Amino acid sequence: MAVVEVRDLVKQFDGGKAHGKVHAVDGVNLTAADGEYLVLLGPSGCGKTTLLRTIAGLEEPSSGDVLIDDHVVTGLPPRARKIAMVFQSYALYPHKTVQANIVFPLRAAKMERAERDRKALWAAGLLGIEHLLARKPRQLSGGERQRVALARALVREPQVFLLDEPLSNLDAKLRASARDELKSFQDEVGTTTVYVTHDQIEAMGLGDRIAVLSKGRIRQVGPPAEIYDDPADTFVATFIGTPPMNLVPRDGHLVGFRPEHLLPVENVRSAERTLMPLAVDRIEYLSGDRHVYGTVTGIGEATRVVARLPSTVETPIAAGETHDFAVHPDRLRFFAADEEGLRTDPIRLGVG
Ligand code: ATP
Repeated sequence: MAVVEVRDLVKQFDGGKAHGKVHAVDGVNLTAADGEYLVLLGPSGCGKTTLLRTIAGLEEPSSGDVLIDDHVVTGLPPRARKIAMVFQSYALYPHKTVQANIVFPLRAAKMERAERDRKALWAAGLLGIEHLLARKPRQLSGGERQRVALARALVREPQVFLLDEPLSNLDAKLRASARDELKSFQDEVGTTTVYVTHDQIEAMGLGDRIAVLSKGRIRQVGPPAEIYDDPADTFVATFIGTPPMNLVPRDGHLVGFRPEHLLPVENVRSAERTLMPLAVDRIEYLSGDRHVYGTVTGIGEATRVVARLPSTVETPIAAGETHDFAVHPDRLRFFAADEEGLRTDPIRLGVG
């Protein structure tokens, strides 16, 4: 196993005449601890893949360093880094069996046959694909193919796994089960893993910690619950969560609260609660929850928000009506109403 670290990492691309230099990675400092599952999460184009490829040695940084176990590996080729990378489109050899696909990197490394076969069986056992060893890739499901690709990476016994959206080719249901499998596999093997995704559910489910990226920069690094409950800025607050955090402008601040914390006032037990009349215009039923859309007043500028009510909240609510809602004061978050949108100290809203 190993510690992976990047220091002041910058990667620029030539974006052509029209765009000049593209700062794909713009000064990133990050450490994945020994055995940690670190997820890089961010929207398309934020630089996740470039960061991962730079750690792998597939891209050379413009400046900064990559370290594995305190050794600078910047400039070393990928094969000298004890890493294994699994891409979004994990190309298996279509005419080779699963077994032959898995041992391919070992053959290339001129390992003896008996040793190769022993390793293939070990990796296949870990991933639960022993019964598929004689098949060809076209005879496998998407999830099974993905496990073969992982097994092929695993036989090299890497110190670090780098995974780039390995589940993105799977349908939603398969993705969920493949995610579970990846997680229990990680718990068992404990290899340091850096995992790239734009899918926050995947990130929340898999990551020991999540690094949220935007425009080549890290906005926040922390365990999933911390990223969700205490977002460092408005980017993280609105990128994480479906629907995202509500943000209501008030006196140079933004007052933030998650949809599940905006509730009919009788469900909020606090002497400090502030009344927020909600003029309801639309209600959606999703997985047993009511998503109530409307315009809220009472705490700042009139703003469109959404409330997410669990089925235990039985207050009758109809579109076209106004209801008194509130948020428990412990659930309120405050941000600067400028471009950076950083977390600020709480402001008093007044009791209503
Ligand atoms: P996605 O989720 O869409 O894969 P990403 O977060 O992985 O996106 P990157 O692929 O790292 O993003 O790209 C980051 C930025 O760098 C983008 O603006 C992209 O257009 C640019 N970029 C990436 N590779 C190159 C390249 N070879 N030449 C020029 N620009 C590039």
